[in-house]
Amino acid sequence: MRLLFGLIGTVLLISCSTRDAELFNEDRYREHIKVLASDEFEGRAPASAGEVKTINYLSEQFAALGIPGANNGSYTQGVPLTSLEVTNKPVLKIHGQGEHAEYAYQQDFMVASFQQQARIGLDSELVFVGYGINAPERNWNDYEGLDVKGKTVIVLVNDPGFATQDPAIFNGNAMTYYGRWTYKYEEAARQGAAAAIIVHETAPASYPWSVVTGSWSGKQFDIQREDGGKNLLKAEAWINIDTAQQVFGMAGMDFNKLKLAAQQPGFRAVNLNLRAQTELEMAIEHTASNNIAAYIEGSEKPDEVFIFTAHWDHLGVNPQLEGDQIYNGAIDNATGTAALLELAAAYKNDKTPPKRSVLFLAVTAEEQGLLGSNYYAEFPLFPIEKTVAGLNMDALRAIGPVKDVVVMGYGFSDLDNYLKDAAVQLDREILPDDKPQNGYYFRSDHFELAKKGVPMIYARGGINHLEKGPEYGKEMSQAYSENEYHQVSDEYREDWDLRGALRDLELYYRTSRLIVDGDNWPAWSEGSEFKKLRP
Ligand SMILES: [Zn+2]
Repeated sequence: MRLLFGLIGTVLLISCSTRDAELFNEDRYREHIKVLASDEFEGRAPASAGEVKTINYLSEQFAALGIPGANNGSYTQGVPLTSLEVTNKPVLKIHGQGEHAEYAYQQDFMVASFQQQARIGLDSELVFVGYGINAPERNWNDYEGLDVKGKTVIVLVNDPGFATQDPAIFNGNAMTYYGRWTYKYEEAARQGAAAAIIVHETAPASYPWSVVTGSWSGKQFDIQREDGGKNLLKAEAWINIDTAQQVFGMAGMDFNKLKLAAQQPGFRAVNLNLRAQTELEMAIEHTASNNIAAYIEGSEKPDEVFIFTAHWDHLGVNPQLEGDQIYNGAIDNATGTAALLELAAAYKNDKTPPKRSVLFLAVTAEEQGLLGSNYYAEFPLFPIEKTVAGLNMDALRAIGPVKDVVVMGYGFSDLDNYLKDAAVQLDREILPDDKPQNGYYFRSDHFELAKKGVPMIYARGGINHLEKGPEYGKEMSQAYSENEYHQVSDEYREDWDLRGALRDLELYYRTSRLIVDGDNWPAWSEGSEFKKLRP
């Protein structure tokens, strides 16, 4: 049997390499990006005229390829969204024994709520729970023996591994999901807390306080929830480091000392004997957007599904800007959305049909907090237990051919091996992301599926340019981050060199086929925080 498989594998490889020229087409890929990123699509905001155009374009393209919609034949999956905005300027009041302090919105603290209520009042005891982590596989529980029902927990950002830089604690410098702020609020809610306050520090957060105040101001989005968000926290808050030091001082405690204690195994939570109070007035609105999904049924195991994901949405139009007002989102993420079409075409045009089924999923509202993928993970079109693995594409590069492939979340699962096998065929080199402390793996759409236990790949071309060297690639990559990322200047340009993106597509295709045509189920690595989610 083994030998037979080996032979088939060899035959497949040979035929693959002779077919590649037909499978991917740079002109066609370029045209998709050009259309999706055109001014006519108005920056593809969810629930806008740009969304209608995007849905129509993608549906027509999938239909032209003869690939049906994945939602009982329809190409769309409705995604009901809610926006919630704090409309007053709430004050954070801290009461101690005979002492009282008030902290100002934006300047000292930030707060949002995802409970869908017009008015929210908080008045509860404050407990310091260290990093707020409950990780059975690491024998670490900051909530051990603690009842925080109705209380407000104060939590440190990132994880003890980053704090100590000790590779024996969590993943050392590399962030685990336990370090991500979203986890802190999720775990506090699971523990029954009323509210959670994260202490902001620039290094472990990887961004300054201004990013907190900027991104937590104005409308915050969530998927619509049947229970109105009752099981979420009343308040999700941040305080800056000065405020934290003052609050701990009021409790007669030293913040820095407690922080050090929290980095060690066996840390026990500390009751601050203080009360936190605040009141929020909320404006709540409901809108509707859509995920777009097309599907090729597998020839041998149709009920087992591989998913390609890419977010179709971007930031839309800002009428307050002078001059250009359209956030075209050409790199972010017309390149990934167009890649879905190109991969769908490759699957369709390859003479060998896939053995497992393949889903091409363009998700909405990534920019509002991974909401389209969150909705899909909650209400999947195919059962999560039958979803074998997936690959996400967000912001492919237009800088030309590169040798290296950067893997976010390197080592998390054995998907790295599939990617490596495909990379070897294409003479490319797999590298871990060089800033694992920033937790990029937890910041794009694949992660919502990972959180449900589905092993997901997130990787893309790096900087080592085949003709111009790594310095050039680094420069181009920095220029994008500084001058275009989330700006109106993220536009399509005729002089883009898309050879590198095409090489990435080829790599994604081959990697996916190793899984789609195989019998194995990719698995999370030993010790991974996601392993327990996949029996
Ligand atoms: Zn993106």
